[in-house]
Amino acid sequence: MPALHERLVPVYEEVVKRNPGEVEFHQAVWEVLESLHPVVVRHPEYADAEIIRRMCEPERQIIFRVPWVDDRGRVQLNRGFRVEFNSALGPYKGGLRFHPSVYLGIIKFLGFEQIFKNSLTGMPIGGAKGGADFDPKGRSDAEVMRFCQSFMTELYRHLGEHTDVPAGDIGVGAREIGYLFGQYKRITNRYESGVLTGKGLTWGGAQVRREATGYGLVFFVDEILRTRGDSFDGKTVVVSGSGNVAVYAIAKVQQLGGRVIACSDSDGYVVDEAGIDFDLLHEIKIERRGRISDYAAKRGSGATYVSGAGIWQVPCDIALPCATQNELDDVGAASLIRNGCRVVAEGANMPTTPAAIRMLAEAGVAFAPGKAANAGGVATSALEMQQNASRDSWTFEYTEKRLAEIMRSIHERCLVTAEAYGSPGNYVVGANIAGFIQVADAMLALGVI
Ligand code: GLU
Repeated sequence: MPALHERLVPVYEEVVKRNPGEVEFHQAVWEVLESLHPVVVRHPEYADAEIIRRMCEPERQIIFRVPWVDDRGRVQLNRGFRVEFNSALGPYKGGLRFHPSVYLGIIKFLGFEQIFKNSLTGMPIGGAKGGADFDPKGRSDAEVMRFCQSFMTELYRHLGEHTDVPAGDIGVGAREIGYLFGQYKRITNRYESGVLTGKGLTWGGAQVRREATGYGLVFFVDEILRTRGDSFDGKTVVVSGSGNVAVYAIAKVQQLGGRVIACSDSDGYVVDEAGIDFDLLHEIKIERRGRISDYAAKRGSGATYVSGAGIWQVPCDIALPCATQNELDDVGAASLIRNGCRVVAEGANMPTTPAAIRMLAEAGVAFAPGKAANAGGVATSALEMQQNASRDSWTFEYTEKRLAEIMRSIHERCLVTAEAYGSPGNYVVGANIAGFIQVADAMLALGVI
């Protein structure tokens, strides 16, 4: 591993010591600290005021019991989390993840990333993340509702439109946000629209929020291609995952003239050389919550289903990891490089391992980190908050235009910052430094709090 700046070594050591066993959090911190070397050299005032050290310690961590009753009348128990990481730029903001792999280390890594991502959007939002080790797979609608009600019965006291504003993430979509909002409204007796984002369009939600992470990712890649005098036209694209991010990334790639030939779920992947049929994928994965193997079965002989991992073996020009953390490792990166892939952009949070990122950089593959490339989701959440605050609602066209402008500006900030700090064209360095400096300056201004 490359060395950290000597002033950052004790910061990283303290993080590891204070957060034992939370390997994903350690990884997320390391990746940011590694980029900050030139910042520490140029701006010793941040280290002098212990800004970086303070940033690695969440402002508040909430862990709570979530008891609920399943359809057979048995009591079930889960653990809920909300890590309110940093509120220097605005109210805590970040999604909720319901997945059996959730533990404090996952929520902390996601909350830490969220600080810099939210800063990059240029919107007034701090960083947070939450969730539970609840597995929605195979649960009835009524069970999901009872779980969400129990979860919110504790969480509501920590929320507020000026305090902490959750949204969705893996396992939390419009249905869950609905049950959570309903319970918040019932407990508080307040129709406080701005307390959650990702709401349905008939009850305070914003146009484009559902599509925003996937669309924003593709707008970002379009900018990368444009700076290289290129476009999506005729490009072959592989997208991992088939959730909300992947599905709308696929739709936008197709609108811009690219061909998405593969996508996946946690069981396996499908290759469809003619191009993924968006309507069929949407019906199976989003409307019916089915499996990607059903897509291949319904699509007929044109599509092949392969069980297990391995989607990165499918040759492509552009790869968009949109499933989950550490899904693209050194083996995957080696196949992408061998097959001539030119751009990798993260739709998920931290889907690429550090070893894979290094390999891609050495091979000259353009690499866009999630903090920058998938910030369209949370940016559109901030637009939803803006509409809620003014009791207004914007058209799809206007909102999509705002999203496209935000993604263009994040891309520009990454490039300008990377250049200014001696790593031209390096989106990781650009995103980490640009995101960091804005939060650091706000923290300096606000004093030791
Ligand atoms: N979970 C999304 C993310 O990772 C969205 C968060 C939000 O909209 O608050 O950025």
